[in-house]
Amino acid sequence: MLKISGLTSHYGSSQALFGVDLALGAGQVATLLGRNGMGKTTTINAIMGIVPPSGGSISFDGVEISGLPSFRIARLGIGLVPEGRQIFPNLSMRENLIATASNHLGHPDPWTAERVYELFPELATRAGSMGNLLSGGEQQMLAIGRALMTNPRLLILDEATEGLAPMIRQKIWAALKAIRADGLSILVVDKNLSDLLKFADVNFILARGKTVWSGGSEALRADRSVLQRHLGV
Ligand code: ATP
Repeated sequence: MLKISGLTSHYGSSQALFGVDLALGAGQVATLLGRNGMGKTTTINAIMGIVPPSGGSISFDGVEISGLPSFRIARLGIGLVPEGRQIFPNLSMRENLIATASNHLGHPDPWTAERVYELFPELATRAGSMGNLLSGGEQQMLAIGRALMTNPRLLILDEATEGLAPMIRQKIWAALKAIRADGLSILVVDKNLSDLLKFADVNFILARGKTVWSGGSEALRADRSVLQRHLGV
């Protein structure tokens, strides 16, 4: 479904990605791992067309999306839960959910606000609250719900549970498992390795802007030297 080969990207004259390779099948969960500053967010932003790639290829369902504008990439069925959540502070929770809702792929059973409230019952009672008055956990649930309301086929989460209390983190993982059971593909960045590895089918490790390791969770758990060298655990 998503195939990245030899992806490079620059910020001005400074090169951030030096050859990212990644492949994710339909219905699969993939993680993007690596220490701080290794290129995870840049890779995600290049997939979404937020950062322009300077070389390599990114294809989604066989369509080359590298260099397309973000709105076209989103319409092809990729939903983003961005780092820092980026909730509209001056819109209510419900307005945040519906502001960018769409069904460009004609999903027969599209996401609705009510379905998002079923996934995250915490949100149901906060429908009229302004975005900036929501807690971090509520904002993250809202950011996931807002992405689902675009009816994507691939959901990308940059820092899925960053800064959230353990109980809220578990609610986010449970929701992601339910979404995955529905057939959605997921690409996820997070610092909580043990939760991630339980959830993932395949893992990609970046070091200095390059894919240096890829494989299943069992293989990664067993490879102490890779864990230590690239993830510091
Ligand atoms: P973190 O986990 O800290 O978010 P990351 O793996 O997501 O790290 P990136 O944020 O993609 O890493 O950063 C990759 C490299 O690109 C780093 O060297 C970083 O300093 C650089 N970089 C990121 N954003 C910019 C920017 N806007 N301008 C210039 N350089 C940047």
